[in-house]
Amino acid sequence: MGILEGKKGLILGVANNKSIAWGVAQAAKREGATLGFNYLGEMMEKRVRPLAESLDADIIAPMNVSEEASIDAFFAQVKEQWGEIDFIVHSIAFANKDALQNGFSNTSREDFHLALDISAYSFVACAQRAAPMMKAGGSMVTMSYLGAERAVPGYGVMGVAKAALEASTRYLAQDLGQDGIRVNSVSAGPIRTLAASAVGDFRKLMEKSARGSMLGRNVSQEEVGNTTVYLLSDLASGVTGELHYVDAGFHIGAGDPEVD
Ligand code: NAD
Repeated sequence: MGILEGKKGLILGVANNKSIAWGVAQAAKREGATLGFNYLGEMMEKRVRPLAESLDADIIAPMNVSEEASIDAFFAQVKEQWGEIDFIVHSIAFANKDALQNGFSNTSREDFHLALDISAYSFVACAQRAAPMMKAGGSMVTMSYLGAERAVPGYGVMGVAKAALEASTRYLAQDLGQDGIRVNSVSAGPIRTLAASAVGDFRKLMEKSARGSMLGRNVSQEEVGNTTVYLLSDLASGVTGELHYVDAGFHIGAGDPEVD
């Protein structure tokens, strides 16, 4: 029997088959979960719908997290179809590419707000709507990166957004713990995805991450998926407010052992 057998949950943030959320979705399905997906706009629907259908998704519906009405409509559909849910996976982020590449000190107010709104506040907005549907307790997981804690070249305002996301995880865990709802972040090592292509010189970042990691390699979306599924499951029933690294041990080291 899978560790998510009998559970229903939302996978928020699949763009294509390279998405971290897709790694989570496959692992969650393998472990017995019934899944619902969102997609961002019609362009994304073409990619997301066939993927979601391949996992027998119950719900495949649009949600743009920068619009309150869109979030409300998505969760209203979830409530109508399912009534109750057991978990959500938030795997959503966005920043203007220019804002990441022009140096953090040049970040405009608009770019700062945009990055924090979509990449951090959206987790709070989704948690607000999901929590009342978690009558039997539940689990929420979001995706972060080491740039929240260290100044990573090319990560700029997204690092500030990830710091806000990680802090939001702790405060959500504090608020929702009384309802038996656990809230955790996964800090994933670099993985080549659509979102990652906005980060300057991502290839170099991946090389440095592999060299500086304890395992001497990068991680896969499957590995992030498996760890996320553990956090979603009752195996992690005593774990909340946690930041769980899936980065082949990069964060415990002193960085790239080779000089640039
Ligand atoms: P991705 O491009 O596959 O996923 C990002 C998702 O965010 C997409 O599905 C996109 O549609 C969605 N999104 C953006 N704006 C949105 C909006 N307004 N409304 C709804 N959805 C919106 O890339 P990914 O790398 O899988 O990113 C998933 C998460 O993992 C992000 O939070 C990212 O920061 C994080 N992460 C990525 C890496 C990496 O190296 N790829 C490492 C650590 C953490």
